[in-house]
Amino acid sequence: MNQTLPVQKNEYYDIQFEDLTHDGAGVAKVEGYPIFVPNGLPGEKAKIKITKVNKGYSFGRLIEIYEKSADRVDAPCPIYKECGGCQLQHLSYEGQLKAKEKQVRDVLTRIGKLNDVLVHPVLGMEDPWRYRNKAQVPVGEREGGLIAGFYQKRSHEIIDMRACLIQQDINDEVVQTVKEVCEKYGVSAYDEKRHKGTIRHIMARHGLVTGEVMVVIVTRTPDLPHGKRIVEEIVSRINGVKSVIQNVNTKKTNVILGDETRVLWGEEVIYDYIGDVKFAISSRSFYQVNPEQTKVLYEQALSYADLTGEEEVIDAYCGIGTISLFLAKKAKKVYGVEIVPEAIEDAKRNAELNGIENVEFAVGEAETVIPKWYEQGITAEVLVVDPPRKGCDESLLKTILDMKPKRVVYVSCNPATLARDLRILEDGGYQTQEVQPVDMFPHTTHVECCVLLVKK
Ligand code: SAH
Repeated sequence: MNQTLPVQKNEYYDIQFEDLTHDGAGVAKVEGYPIFVPNGLPGEKAKIKITKVNKGYSFGRLIEIYEKSADRVDAPCPIYKECGGCQLQHLSYEGQLKAKEKQVRDVLTRIGKLNDVLVHPVLGMEDPWRYRNKAQVPVGEREGGLIAGFYQKRSHEIIDMRACLIQQDINDEVVQTVKEVCEKYGVSAYDEKRHKGTIRHIMARHGLVTGEVMVVIVTRTPDLPHGKRIVEEIVSRINGVKSVIQNVNTKKTNVILGDETRVLWGEEVIYDYIGDVKFAISSRSFYQVNPEQTKVLYEQALSYADLTGEEEVIDAYCGIGTISLFLAKKAKKVYGVEIVPEAIEDAKRNAELNGIENVEFAVGEAETVIPKWYEQGITAEVLVVDPPRKGCDESLLKTILDMKPKRVVYVSCNPATLARDLRILEDGGYQTQEVQPVDMFPHTTHVECCVLLVKK
């Protein structure tokens, strides 16, 4: 027992939640000492049990809610409690948007010391369900039959799933159909522990605008028993299938896709549009999972870039060139840089597909390539960054400060690293003008931000 702490493990306390953490747990305090409790909502009075204590904070379990938040709703998904995919289904969608706005504001103030920056209300979805265009579902066995579903929270037990309410309907249909057909032909599921069995994952990708569907069957073995029959049934049963792919992953690993990809039927890629830009999507391509909100986000970035057609633009962390191609139509020239070589191949192919010629893509670290460009005299009036969760490398921020673009558009999937980077840019002579959060992942705690900075 730690007598100096205000709460003790395994004891019960009556508390009131004040806030939400960035991962969706309720925050309560006893004598200023924080307790994080999954499923608690701000304003609620509840009984909790302390499950773990640390020096500076503790964790608890919700035992009983005495006074419910007006924003509390019944989670519509039957496996919400077991599955780790969503964290906020017990909070109304309006409540989620308000919580995300507050989270962005708090972090910008606390970490970025940006006290009165303009943060707009989060742009949410009109219908925040069934938005994901890609499913990757592990397959297992139970009582001789196949099951497919997500892993239980903090474990590798598969929960059999009929429907995932954040997936586009067709993806559920693909998963169910492939599972049924494989079961019918006696294909075994991969057994992680013994590294035996055949089918590891079912992956579905869907072009929302084109309606095209890709089915990917990930197997441990190069051979897919009864492959021909299985493919015939899949193609006849699912509308819109344009591509059936087998991916072979022979390794003992958590990584989903292996190195070998075979087209079992149809095309190697499917197509989709964001706005009027067309994209080819292969089984391995990175492609934003919420296409409707991606359009909202990119339109915001384009609007902040405020292009007249005369500007040179750099798109750092460009992935498959989505933002670059979006901007190219309004810019004189766009330079994209990205670390994954296959993504740059896709970016080039996508530029060609759209007949866009004023773009140039390079493979490498943004923090290495952009300084080189700068030495060669390539600069930009507008610079866009869309880094991974860890944010921009400090040396890239330094190069931006040397290069002095008029405007920086910062697209971020992590408010904490965004705030840190904005502080560096502010100290170097930029002003954060406005922040537009966009809800790309309803019912999860993720929030995306698009930020406009201008040179002072
Ligand atoms: N702008 C793209 C992708 C953003 S995701 C889109 O909207 O689709 C972030 C990207 O940064 C990923 O593609 C990742 O591979 C890439 N990346 C990660 N570290 C990088 C680095 N140091 N330099 C350049 N790209 C990097």
